[in-house]
Amino acid sequence: MRSLKVATRYLYAPIMLLGMNGAGYYIVATGQSYVWLALVLVAAIGTAFAAEHISPAHEEWNHSHGDDTANMWHAAVYEFSSITGVLLLPAIAWLVPWNGIWPQGWPLVLQVLLAIVFADLAFTLVHYWSHRLPMLWRLHAVHHGVPRMYGFNGLVRHPLHQSIDMLIGTLPLALAGMPADVALLLGLAISIQLIVQHSNVDYELGPLRNAMSIGRLHHLHHVNWGKEGDCNFGLFTTLWDRLLGTFQPEPSRPIKANDLGVDDVPEFPKSFWQQLMFPFVYQPGKAQPERYAPADKPKDRLHPAE
Ligand SMILES: [Zn+2]
Repeated sequence: MRSLKVATRYLYAPIMLLGMNGAGYYIVATGQSYVWLALVLVAAIGTAFAAEHISPAHEEWNHSHGDDTANMWHAAVYEFSSITGVLLLPAIAWLVPWNGIWPQGWPLVLQVLLAIVFADLAFTLVHYWSHRLPMLWRLHAVHHGVPRMYGFNGLVRHPLHQSIDMLIGTLPLALAGMPADVALLLGLAISIQLIVQHSNVDYELGPLRNAMSIGRLHHLHHVNWGKEGDCNFGLFTTLWDRLLGTFQPEPSRPIKANDLGVDDVPEFPKSFWQQLMFPFVYQPGKAQPERYAPADKPKDRLHPAE
């Protein structure tokens, strides 16, 4: 068991990021049926769940927090929306009055990397602004309401927020003439990235630890410690966080299993439908968490030691 745990710690990221995306690339590059891509996604989710049980970051995060059904809905809606986006590509290509500037003559692998580099920048900027603009934060808060981190939580997004992500993160690529094959591989890469980013796996990244926006860096992004989680917004890399000045490699204290969530909504709605309605009833900052109580009222503070 111990050797299995060690193998999981070191092989989880390579298997997920290189193995699963590599399998997707092989399927598309060799002209196999796209149905196989769905199986790669299922395999990625299965691998994440297995690794979470072998080498969990927090044992408590492996247990249901009453969120299983809502998360299944979120995952289904997320993937359905992504596939719909790809299906819209031919329509977009037909509507735009130019041939596009996409380098279709490049090798497929370079086209996918180009799409990932652009998506990394665009998704990071949308994420950054989602923590600063109240209107966007209302939508993005649904993602931060998760009380634990595990593979499925990466796909917990309000559909409107996902639409904004796609509009800014992938529509420019579509308008530039990105082919459907590249869009599918980009979509797969984003889905796998979200699963890895949020999975409850204690794994090693070696020298890439501070270069990739996954693992402990993203756990820190989800803490409910006031503004301390306003860092590490990246999707694939930490490059844009470093340029924005929001890269934070270490938490100020160890992250405990119950340190996640939206701090002014400790009882976050659990059902999928309540979460869909949440942005329209939530008033950010209205229910100030007691941790923000003025220092001259120490009796009112919930966690005086913090
Ligand atoms: Zn966020």
